[in-house]
Amino acid sequence: MILKDKVAIVTGGTRGIGFAVVKGFLDNGAKVALLGSRQETVDSALSKLGEANPNYSVLGFCPDLLCTAAVEEMVRSVVNQWGRVDILVNNAGISDAKPFYDYDEAHFDHVMDVNVKAVYNCTHAVAGLMKEQGGGVILNTSSMVSLYAQASGSAYPVSKFAINGLTKALARELGKDGIRVNAVAPGITATDMVAALDQSIIQRMSAGIPLRRLGTAEDVANAFLYLASDMASYVTGEVLSVDGGFVG
Ligand code: NAD
Repeated sequence: MILKDKVAIVTGGTRGIGFAVVKGFLDNGAKVALLGSRQETVDSALSKLGEANPNYSVLGFCPDLLCTAAVEEMVRSVVNQWGRVDILVNNAGISDAKPFYDYDEAHFDHVMDVNVKAVYNCTHAVAGLMKEQGGGVILNTSSMVSLYAQASGSAYPVSKFAINGLTKALARELGKDGIRVNAVAPGITATDMVAALDQSIIQRMSAGIPLRRLGTAEDVANAFLYLASDMASYVTGEVLSVDGGFVG
């Protein structure tokens, strides 16, 4: 129970990596506000968790992460319910595979908005509160593409490089207020999106990974659990790779 009575907000908590983070936090004693982009997916995640354990303390929200007023209202609701916010996990994100020649400005802006601006909005909405509380933990989902980029969908690595930059900048700026800021950089992780691929493609991808398998959402969630907990009390500004040893 390494997060006993901690209050956490997890964006993109309805499925995949975010859902595993929510479950891992709840299993370790946290109270969790899970966020998704639609009420239906939030409700379905809440009902899955309710079936797994009716005693979980979990709330669901679907604010527009690009609307500062909506994000601030969500944070106020969490504080009204549980009195504080100890942990923010900025996990919501979209991937991209569009060739650069087919890009237009709106496409670039959309990837940057969801993957970077929303992270800024959520972080800004809790940072002052964490300072008043005497500390907190901010965790961001980066990606292995923040080290190696990728051969198409260039806004995606650009956004994840930015996430590493924000992580390191805020670790330096907010550390004096007891706020730790870290990121987890998953490799290819078997979420719904990847599981839908042909087995031969999955085998080919696995062959290039030293541990010879794709990551699971739980592999990645365990890194978040460590970084969120006091076991990582002297770790900040870190981008922790969870990628089976992949080297580009
Ligand atoms: P997923 O598509 O299963 O889940 C994405 C989550 O983000 C969902 O809960 C969704 O509701 C939320 N989301 C997406 N767009 C949103 C928006 N506009 N507003 C609010 N919420 C929104 O994906 P996943 O694989 O679990 O990815 C989660 C994070 O992990 C992302 O940041 C992704 O970039 C990162 N990541 C994934 C992999 C991988 O291989 N799966 C690898 C590296 C990094």
